[in-house]
Amino acid sequence: MTGDAIRIEALRKTYAGGKEALKGIDLTIPTGSIFGLLGPNGAGKSTLINILAGLVNKTSGKVDIWGWDQDRNPRQSRAAIGVMPQELNLDPFFSPRDALEVQAGLYGVPKRDRRSDEILEMIGLEDKADAYARTLSGGMRRRLLLGKALVHHPRVLVLDEPTAGVDIELRQMLWRNVRRLNRERGMTIILTTHYLEEAEEMCDEIAIINQGAVVARDSTRNLLGQLDAKTLVIEPETMPGTLPSAPGISAERRGGGLIALSYRSSQISAGDVLALVHHAGIVIRDVRTEQADLEDVFLELTRTRSVA
Ligand code: ADP
Ligand code: MG
Repeated sequence: MTGDAIRIEALRKTYAGGKEALKGIDLTIPTGSIFGLLGPNGAGKSTLINILAGLVNKTSGKVDIWGWDQDRNPRQSRAAIGVMPQELNLDPFFSPRDALEVQAGLYGVPKRDRRSDEILEMIGLEDKADAYARTLSGGMRRRLLLGKALVHHPRVLVLDEPTAGVDIELRQMLWRNVRRLNRERGMTIILTTHYLEEAEEMCDEIAIINQGAVVARDSTRNLLGQLDAKTLVIEPETMPGTLPSAPGISAERRGGGLIALSYRSSQISAGDVLALVHHAGIVIRDVRTEQADLEDVFLELTRTRSVA
């Protein structure tokens, strides 16, 4: 399949209690990509994912998975996607092997097409194949959830906060596997996270959602370009008549006798900015930096959007 693995149009979800969790989402996810869905807690990420997975019913809108309309072709669209949920929902009396077999059964995978051993090996649970799930550590349970998401050989794999609260070893194992599935099997990967570095490391493209709406969607490179915006705020001994200027640095006056110098940290260092100030004959009384973190970007993007 070329084009988009997932197409979402005007997707809305209002929960029974009246909470409007998704307020009209339009989103396409390219086939073969590793796509990051970012947003603060409560943004609506899990709601969106659970709708894709068929675990939560949408209120309105259209969802296509691998070209299959979720309402008109529910079976095909469900078969095309595998989801590793955020919650650890495992039957405590099933062994990992049972859990995989039962899941495969639920998806109608014929016995001859089941790959339980291969999956157990991939998630590093061969040794625990026949142990009760309740004897597994938290990390092992997470790995088993990944395995369960893969039993029906989905085209699209969705991971909901796979690394929230997991140790570094498990994180690396997860990312290794995810990269391999993407590279070797062309699997389209969607992951949610609220760790920016994770998205930066893993994802080709990113959508940021906040309060049930997409506030940004771009290649990781472009989006992070916005994030490396830094500002050096200086308090000069005396305010100069003209502000210093140089390519890539923009200066403006702030209240309280301050000058704000904005630049991109990927292109210019703070040292260069200070050198410019020094060169302009400005004596610095005080200096501090301001840096865009993800929270700022959320705020900024939400603000811009509500104005538009
Ligand atoms: P995220 O995964 O981004 O943290 P969620 O999709 O879990 O966000 O939640 C989005 C909003 O919907 C939150 O305000 C949350 O409290 C609410 N919500 C989530 N699940 C339910 C539910 N089953 N019933 C009512 N409200 C819910
Ligand atoms: Mg969530």
